[in-house]
Amino acid sequence: MSLSPAPRDEKPMLRILRADNPSPMTHTGTMTYLLGDGEVVLIDPGPDLANHADAILAALEPGERIVALLATHAHADHVAGMARLQALTQAPSFGFGPSGSGRSAVMAGLVQQGLPGGDGGFDATFAPDQRLVDGQIICPAGFDITAIHTPGHTGCSMSFAVGDWLFTGDLAMGWASSLISPPNGDMATYLASLARLARQDWSQLYPGHGESVEDASARLAELIRHRHDRERQILEALANGQTEIPSITNAIYQGIPTGLSPAASRNVLAHLIDLTARGRVLATPDPLPWARFTLP
Ligand SMILES: [Zn+2]
Repeated sequence: MSLSPAPRDEKPMLRILRADNPSPMTHTGTMTYLLGDGEVVLIDPGPDLANHADAILAALEPGERIVALLATHAHADHVAGMARLQALTQAPSFGFGPSGSGRSAVMAGLVQQGLPGGDGGFDATFAPDQRLVDGQIICPAGFDITAIHTPGHTGCSMSFAVGDWLFTGDLAMGWASSLISPPNGDMATYLASLARLARQDWSQLYPGHGESVEDASARLAELIRHRHDRERQILEALANGQTEIPSITNAIYQGIPTGLSPAASRNVLAHLIDLTARGRVLATPDPLPWARFTLP
């Protein structure tokens, strides 16, 4: 019997688990992906729930072991379970960097001027054992994984490509658009990341929440279009004399549940920061949540 290497397009085995943390922000719960067989790579441990860690270990066959723990980004619903899984598996963790890393210069500047954090979802303790850089290829279990730095939802957001599969975290999902909450969320880098991913053909997107997405290019285009539509609505609200984030948010997000309106106003802030940086909007004094916004 001769053994030959697997063809390049042969995909590793994929097992998909969902944590029991449903909410308006997490949809049906956080998705955890297990790639490979024998030696297994995990993408996103999920929240720190004992029953989720149990389910992950129960998904392994006898003799299988997890050899690498990858994090798409440092939000707690994706990485709070990392420490528990590391204790159980002894596997190293991989990610772009600790909470708050990867911010653009614009966001770093606004933080200096007092922009408060707005997503409260960071796991402040998260720091990967191994920091990945854009384009880095790792092969912890016999198949290549390409790390792609795709900031926007957070500065530290990474997508992971395995052949033409793309694991997107919260950057591109099927069930909803992403929360873009400055300073971790950044509309300019978010749109650049989506445009970058859209330049490649993906057979499947595997997001951090919700079902996988088969028509990747249509979904990526739709997500970009959605933000262009929102931007146009914000410019219209400004043209109609709205000057502050609460009134702009009310004007364009009609009928959303009240629980989601803080997230909506963060998305509006993200657009206004981007529009200000591009000279399309004037912010007085700076594009901060309490600023006055006008058209030039
Ligand atoms: Zn997230």
